[in-house]
Amino acid sequence: MAPPFRRLLGAEIVTAPDVDTDQLGTFSGEIARPAPVVETCALKAELAFQTMDVDCAIASEGSYGPIDRLPFRPSGVEIMAFVDRRRGLKIIETMATHRTNWRLFTFASGAPEVRAAAVSMGFPEYGVFVIANKDRSRPIKELASLDEVVAAVDREATRSEDGKAILIADMRAHRNPTRMKVLRALSWKLAKRLQCLCPKCGVPGFGHTGSRRGLPCEGCSAPTHWIDFEIDGCTVCGHAAARPRKDGRQIASRLSCKSCRSASPG
Ligand SMILES: [Zn+2]
Ligand SMILES: [Zn+2]
Repeated sequence: MAPPFRRLLGAEIVTAPDVDTDQLGTFSGEIARPAPVVETCALKAELAFQTMDVDCAIASEGSYGPIDRLPFRPSGVEIMAFVDRRRGLKIIETMATHRTNWRLFTFASGAPEVRAAAVSMGFPEYGVFVIANKDRSRPIKELASLDEVVAAVDREATRSEDGKAILIADMRAHRNPTRMKVLRALSWKLAKRLQCLCPKCGVPGFGHTGSRRGLPCEGCSAPTHWIDFEIDGCTVCGHAAARPRKDGRQIASRLSCKSCRSASPG
């Protein structure tokens, strides 16, 4: 994260000491998040103020897993929060990605596929966790070799009431090179956003806050559900400005229009 903040903003990033971010939830699931992922990310950034006398803090939070519509295609979203407590500023940037090694397998003790499953998740370059299926409170985290993974699966499966252990990708960023790449891209996005100052109050972080639907139909000009304008806003003074779609489109397809569709024969 340091290069974009140094290059674009002249800001130095340092690691906040003695911050236990696990209190806000863990990837291995033994501690649940106290709030939805975006709020949790901002709370995590604010933890830095407990141990450092600074005005600004950044944190990231990731959420990975199967998505409902495409159950066999794992995906994720990375969230990065910037908090400036002096200006009362909170900027959240997100990045959705399909670039992930996230997988979850369930094995009984002695299952022959454990090694191949771990390798398919990139182990040992990427980390993996082993968790007893019926007791998720004690995930086995620092596994260093395939032998250790197999032993942990056997042990945790035996310990679990249903005889099953979960083998799951370690999504902590320091054990997941793919996440690190996404986080690098997201930190450029966040730093670029902070470069944009609100035209009204001058606070950093002016940028996309939403969109307005209603792009007119090409046939009858009635508003459709297509996006008409993108809205940029300032989270401090509330100033907002509409800007046209990036792709320059000014009319929506007839197919997206309720009245044209119901009027057309057949
Ligand atoms: Zn129409
Ligand atoms: Zn403003």
